[in-house]
Amino acid sequence: MSTQAIETTRFLSHSAVRTIAQQFGTPVYVYDEARLTQAAQEVLHFPNAFGLTARYAMKALPNGNILRLFDRLGLHFDASSGFEVERAMQAGIAAHKIALTAQELPQNFPTLHAGGVALNACSLAQLRYFGERFPGQELGIRFNPGLGSGGTNRTNVGGPAASFGIWHEDRATVQAIVQQYGLKVIRIHTHIGSGSDPEVWQHVSSMSIGLLEHFPDAHTLNLGGGYKVGRMSHETSTDLQEVGQPVVQTFVAFGEATGRRIQLEVEPGTYLVANAGCVITAIQDRTRTGKDGYDFLKIDSGMTEVLRPSMYGAQHPLVVVPATEAAEQEQGPTLDAIVAGHCCESGDILTPSTGDPEALEPRTLRGAAIGDYLVIEGAGAYCSGMSSKNYNSFPEAPEVLYRGSDQDPVLIRKRQTLDQIVQNEVWYNVGGAMSLALVGLQVLL
Ligand SMILES: *Cc1c(COP(=O)(O)O)cnc(C)c1O
Repeated sequence: MSTQAIETTRFLSHSAVRTIAQQFGTPVYVYDEARLTQAAQEVLHFPNAFGLTARYAMKALPNGNILRLFDRLGLHFDASSGFEVERAMQAGIAAHKIALTAQELPQNFPTLHAGGVALNACSLAQLRYFGERFPGQELGIRFNPGLGSGGTNRTNVGGPAASFGIWHEDRATVQAIVQQYGLKVIRIHTHIGSGSDPEVWQHVSSMSIGLLEHFPDAHTLNLGGGYKVGRMSHETSTDLQEVGQPVVQTFVAFGEATGRRIQLEVEPGTYLVANAGCVITAIQDRTRTGKDGYDFLKIDSGMTEVLRPSMYGAQHPLVVVPATEAAEQEQGPTLDAIVAGHCCESGDILTPSTGDPEALEPRTLRGAAIGDYLVIEGAGAYCSGMSSKNYNSFPEAPEVLYRGSDQDPVLIRKRQTLDQIVQNEVWYNVGGAMSLALVGLQVLL
């Protein structure tokens, strides 16, 4: 049974949870403006020797209001697809503040490039594509430095098992293509994944700065994101000052040896938003599966809002909030429960074992009844943007920005309707098609 501490809400009081649930319904994502701002300030103060551009990896939480908030605070942006680039531009982000680092180049890339969007070429094919269309122009190159760092194989995006970036041993081929088209490589990019510890990060940054020796036009080294954030109370978060300081020395030493003052870019997603978001859900049902079984709490949310537990065995704090103020005083016994999502899918579980989405691990919670709320904390990053939305035809949940106890929370995305879920379906004449199929069958017979 679980020995972990009972978790508490991170930025909402219990009464704020109830108020927001009543005003906007459940499930509902809530983001905390103060925490978003605080995290942005920390990233903007990342240690650096000769200048810093901090980008927000927008796939972590792509709502345009969040992009605008970060834009106002001084962050730039990293987009993972052409659609993300356009989404950012629709939110009013200037094209020159956006870099595209993508597995797949969009068909309208030439238009985006002409508008000022920067590219980090992530494969030899992307590099050749760019060279053929834009000879003599500037771009960045993403390398896979040969080692990675991530909680699991699914969050690790460096090393031989990851397809991201150009394999470091292909450097000579890169140089040949660059020369063939007269390209100017102004940025070297390495992003190795979420969960990096300071030592791995230090190691990768010295390997990456070594790559710059072969690219004399490069003035920027982008070390990606991947700063680990503790969501559970027993987990620790990366101290940006601690991971960043040794890297300053690496840049200074490179500067002394080569006379080049290299600018640093970092592009966290998780770090900026993970603990600034939660999902308020309502407990719908309970069930027990015999004496060797489990106590299950069923909520009106799950993989449709928070997919990370099913996908990675990720742990999110789960906090029971009584339905009424009066019930706050009742100190019933705690409950060791499996929290199940609302999809007809046995993998829709909020309490997997750490790192093992296949296994169940009961969580100790405050005693709960049907009708109480359950808050999923640490749901700012890779939840709203990554969930298996519309599975079982559940509509996309709304998003709300919490602006402190003295201001009204603001709706920043409406709840989807059933009509919106089916709006792109096109009716065909079922009867007509069936008679055609029957004719076909007769011909066969
Ligand atoms: C996803 C991604 C990031 C952000 O990673 P986090 O682990 O969320 O910090 C940064 N750079 C690139 C290229 C990415 O794809």
